[in-house]
Amino acid sequence: MLITYNPHHHLHQGRQEMFRGRLVDCHETVARLDHVLTELQRRVIGEVRAADPDPAGLDDALARLHAPRYLRFLERAWDDWIALDPSNVERDALPSVWPAPGMRHDVLPENFAARMGLFSFDAGTPIVQGSWAAARAGAACAIGAARIVSSGGERGAFALTRPPGHHAGADFFGGYCFLNNSALAAQALRDGGAARVAVLDVDYHHGNGTQAIFYERSDVLTVSIHGDPRTEYPFFLGHADERGAGAGTGFNLNLPLPRGTDFARWRAALDAGLTAIASFGAQALVVALGVDTFEGDPISGFKLRSADYDTVGEAIAAAGLPTVFVFEGGYAVAEVGINTVNVLEGFSRRSRSP
Ligand SMILES: [Zn+2]
Repeated sequence: MLITYNPHHHLHQGRQEMFRGRLVDCHETVARLDHVLTELQRRVIGEVRAADPDPAGLDDALARLHAPRYLRFLERAWDDWIALDPSNVERDALPSVWPAPGMRHDVLPENFAARMGLFSFDAGTPIVQGSWAAARAGAACAIGAARIVSSGGERGAFALTRPPGHHAGADFFGGYCFLNNSALAAQALRDGGAARVAVLDVDYHHGNGTQAIFYERSDVLTVSIHGDPRTEYPFFLGHADERGAGAGTGFNLNLPLPRGTDFARWRAALDAGLTAIASFGAQALVVALGVDTFEGDPISGFKLRSADYDTVGEAIAAAGLPTVFVFEGGYAVAEVGINTVNVLEGFSRRSRSP
């Protein structure tokens, strides 16, 4: 198994996020990735190398799934934040006003605070000076991993990157995400020749961005196992009755579970997801690998234990598909490395002895 990490991830480190009326320290930290990297170096399961942060065709690949005006916004966001008020250099950029349904989304506001609202859905995702560089290199990391698997170089690859991606849509950021790394990896597998690609999102939170990007497509099946959006973030998408639209009808599967779900029940949902992926006839798989399903996670509510993640990796390997894992959430910082590498180790072991 090949492991590539985003060498520029540390350029993105928000200071504070808005949570229920308070500014609190960001949960999405540099240390998250460093813990995984340390664990990967301790338990050798494959070659670990820094991803090329600027591979050929990267900007074209981003524009396949993300709106050009959104990409321009992200690229210039920090400079525009400073232009709005020079003293902003001391503060992260966070949105505070949004267009409601029925208001205009087509007119690009000149005011930068308004533009931030147009292109976001929460105030928990700060933009800092290095956010664009980190997010762009992270997307490159995910696309690069997919290209390696496409070329037949590896059965499995892991893109270790942050900021995460699965909440980011074609033209919005939120949920600590700017560019949808998992979706970009799926598109790269399609471009590499896989006619049908599945995305399996096992993060605690619904992969709303990934669902939205592929919602009307029949060539990418999106499956997400997550906390029920009636009580859990991102709240406004992720219900079981969202099955796709147009040509994509029947190609989105949501498996919401109640807060407090243990591994036995979660595993049954995983089996249902893998059955759907097999029925779809996927030729390649992207796993949006969040480990915030862990019982000790500070912002989530499932009850998976460290040993369970090894079983998850084995079950995914048993699908028998070329697989790209993309790092998403997971906030119990001390355990995020162990749990992530447990998935990869279970996958690797089962891949070697089918
Ligand atoms: Zn999550």
